[in-house]
Order: sequence, then C-alpha cells, then structure tokens
Amino acid sequence: MTGNLHTETLCEHVLRVELPTHTLEPLASTNVYVIHQKDAAIVVDCGGADGADIEQLADCLRQLGIQRVTGYIATHYHADHTGGIPALQARFPGPVYVHPLDHAGAAKAMHCSPNDLLAPPDTLSLGHLDIRVEHKPGHTHGHLHLFIRQHRLLLVGDHMAGSGTVWIGPPDGHMNDYYQALEHIEKSQAILALPGHGPVIPSPQAASRQLRLHRLAREREIYNWLANGKKTADQLVDLIYAHRNLGNAKHVAKRTIQAHLARLVELGEVDCQALAPDFQMMYFIRKSQEGNYT
Ligand SMILES: [Zn+2]
Repeated sequence: MTGNLHTETLCEHVLRVELPTHTLEPLASTNVYVIHQKDAAIVVDCGGADGADIEQLADCLRQLGIQRVTGYIATHYHADHTGGIPALQARFPGPVYVHPLDHAGAAKAMHCSPNDLLAPPDTLSLGHLDIRVEHKPGHTHGHLHLFIRQHRLLLVGDHMAGSGTVWIGPPDGHMNDYYQALEHIEKSQAILALPGHGPVIPSPQAASRQLRLHRLAREREIYNWLANGKKTADQLVDLIYAHRNLGNAKHVAKRTIQAHLARLVELGEVDCQALAPDFQMMYFIRKSQEGNYT
C-alpha cells in the first residue's frame, strides 16, 4: 500500500497501482502500470482525474526513485484509462502516446488537443527494457497491447479483466477484431497478462482461449434465439440475462450483444431491418443461411 492506493510489485521493473476510477460496477479502480529503470519510468494508463489520488500516485513514483517519465502510453482512449494523465504529466512532464485511431477520444477525455498526442513507436525503450507496442483493436479501434520482452509480461488493456467482465460494443468495439486479439494472446509467449482492471492473470493463453470460447458460445446462443423468430437487441438482452440482475452493466451487455449481431451480419448469417410499428432494428436469420451457422 502507498497511502490509500493498493500497489503490487510484479517484478523489479514493474509496479501495478490500483487507481480509484468511475468504471463499470462492481469495479472501482483502473490499473496503472509503472515500468521503471533507475530514475526513469514509462507510465501505462492513468485513469481517474482526482487530484489527491494522482498526488499519491506521484508519491509512489518518487518512492521508487523516479525523477522523470520518458513517456505515457494509453492502452485505449477511455476516460478511466486516460483521465489522470494530464495531472500526473503536470508533476512529471513527458510525451503522451495513443494510437491515432483513438486520438480524438483521448483528447476529449484528457481535455487537450489531439495535437498534444503522439502516435506510439513500434518499440518503447527504457534502459535495457524493450516494450513492444502492438496495435490490437477490439475494445476500441486504437486499442494497444504492450509486451515487455525481458519479463514476458503482456499488458492487455481492456481485452481481459482480472475481475469483472470485458465488454465490446459498437461504434468503438468490433467483435471479430476482438477474437483476433484474443487469439494473439493465446499464441503469445507471455507468462502473465496485465489487465486494465483487477489482479494480474496467470496462464494468459488458457484464459484468453476460455474468453474467446465463452464469446463464441454467446454468439451461438444469440443465433439460436433468432432461429426462433426475429428479435431486437433489447429482447435478446432480456432473454439471455433473464436470470441475472445486470444493474448498471445492462447497457454494456446490450452493446456486447450488438457487437455479436454486427459480426453475424458481417458473416452474412443474420440480416436486420427497422420494422414498424416503432421502427426498432429487428434481427433475423437470413433465409438462405438457415441451418448453416457453424
Ligand atoms: Zn475501456
């Protein structure tokens, strides 16, 4: 612990700090990863713009002997990952790297100009450490994975969660991209996945495979409900989560279902049409595809 912040030393060069954020319940924090070597650091994500929390985070850096931040990098633009960057940057100046596809969103979340943000290089170096920057869209179009080669640690942003769930929803989220990102984790050499929220994930290959199979099973479930007759996304949410109280997660459950529906439409399995009387989008199995979904 540092002050009220929970911290965890993952190896001699990487610290995980749980920063309180407004994020999806039941989560209440976002991970900040401080990659450090001697007096320099690279900071990955920095959610939460509360001044007192950022001051405690700055104290964590000082206690590690860090005098300068050579770069900030965001796994993606969402405010619970970028909101605190400007406040920490005021204490430790440094360039901010965000994938260009996420620049507009990050500028809004950080109250800055897109011109203040840089496209990340393929590799960020810090002393003897190499951090490979991998563009892996899915949760957002500009989502990044970061691989610390020497320690085989893979930072996966919001593509995996140590607790709670991952959501993928349009317009930012793309389910097929997400499957590819998960396959990439399955094939990686990582010994630990470092998620945007919750504790680190051992056996990332098995965990990402399980996540992908879970999503594919959900997609099959959606297809089967549509085989029983056309439905709206809201009706599918009510059917699929009939026995669960989703609380404030209902809108993201709906968006994840919409991302599955968008993939089924892309695959040519499902079609959609805004139908009377209320012109809500109805989804239905394409006639020529009936019984073909595998
Ligand atoms: Zn996110």
